[in-house]
Amino acid sequence: MDDVIIIGGSFAGLAAALQLGRARRKVTVLDTGLPRNRFAGRSHGLLGHDHKPPLDILAEARQQLARYPAITLVNTRADSISGGIDDFSVLTDNGESLGAHRLILSYGITDQMPDVPGFAEGWGTSIVPCPYCDGFEVAGQHWGLVWSGPQSQNQVRLFPDWTDRLTVFADGHDIPPDIRADLARRNIPVVDGRITEIARHGGHNATLKLNVGPDVAVDILFAHPRNKPSANLHESLGLATANTPLGIVLKVDERRETSMPGIYAAGDLTNPLIPSVTTASWQGAMAGIFAQQSMLA
Ligand SMILES: Cc1cc2nc3c(=O)[nH]c(=O)nc-3n(C[C@H](O)[C@H](O)[C@H](O)COP(=O)(O)OP(=O)(O)OC[C@H]3O[C@@H](n4cnc5c(N)ncnc54)[C@H](O)[C@@H]3O)c2cc1C
Repeated sequence: MDDVIIIGGSFAGLAAALQLGRARRKVTVLDTGLPRNRFAGRSHGLLGHDHKPPLDILAEARQQLARYPAITLVNTRADSISGGIDDFSVLTDNGESLGAHRLILSYGITDQMPDVPGFAEGWGTSIVPCPYCDGFEVAGQHWGLVWSGPQSQNQVRLFPDWTDRLTVFADGHDIPPDIRADLARRNIPVVDGRITEIARHGGHNATLKLNVGPDVAVDILFAHPRNKPSANLHESLGLATANTPLGIVLKVDERRETSMPGIYAAGDLTNPLIPSVTTASWQGAMAGIFAQQSMLA
């Protein structure tokens, strides 16, 4: 039996495994190899790894974990969880049943691509979610923001640190008059109508076709599609969740334990605020440490 099984072996899961492996706890990491930022050419903001392809960062991390004999990395999907603290069972998609004293859930979230031709194709290059991740490279250029609700106002307040050329696309949202007045005060044009297609021209550039009015070209488009957890294991366990404007996240306490004793969680699956590689790694490390400390005699 393992001390800990980690479900999801990307930034959060591997950071948890590193702490546990260094504490010489037996740990198995199950992973299907689909990190959320796999569409991005480069990852930004992680100290020591800035501007590297995200898959290279993960490959290097896996190589470093090979030093630790107590860590086993398995390329497989966790399909179900049963049991309770000190006696969890995880069934994998190859029919194997694995046992552990503790679990860490770090299976991330999946962005739901809207049904707009060109959106999925541009995701991660010409269409991105986060200015901290991709803003520096396109600072001073013409940015577009697809309005997704009241939370988009935060983006409007953030973006001037990178550019003073922003166009908001209402995309069918009813932007209230007071917010429109604020946008006008900031000299930010609002384009009404629904986005019907996004054409890319290599690099970051995107041209948006709308159901009314002329096409509008921007140098980069920021968008926040709804997301959902990448697996539903928490649902079958009945773990407590919280609603956010873009999707649900798992609730954890200050020791990163979920509502079920012995199950910890980390990364985007738990993070409604500024999800990033740095926060996922930090949360994963803390989940690993707290899971280990919970097993001390
Ligand atoms: C386009 C884009 C660009 C981004 N750029 C940046 C950036 O530049 N800098 C930055 O800091 N952040 C960036 N991010 C955010 C970053 O991708 C996430 O914050 C980070 O990947 C979260 O790590 P995680 O370990 O929580 O989840 P993920 O990286 O999403 O990993 C979850 C892992 O769990 C696996 N998994 C899922 N279900 C199962 C299952 N049932 N069994 C086993 N394994 C499973 C998946 O295959 C995946 O490997 C970007 C995000 C996007 C969408």
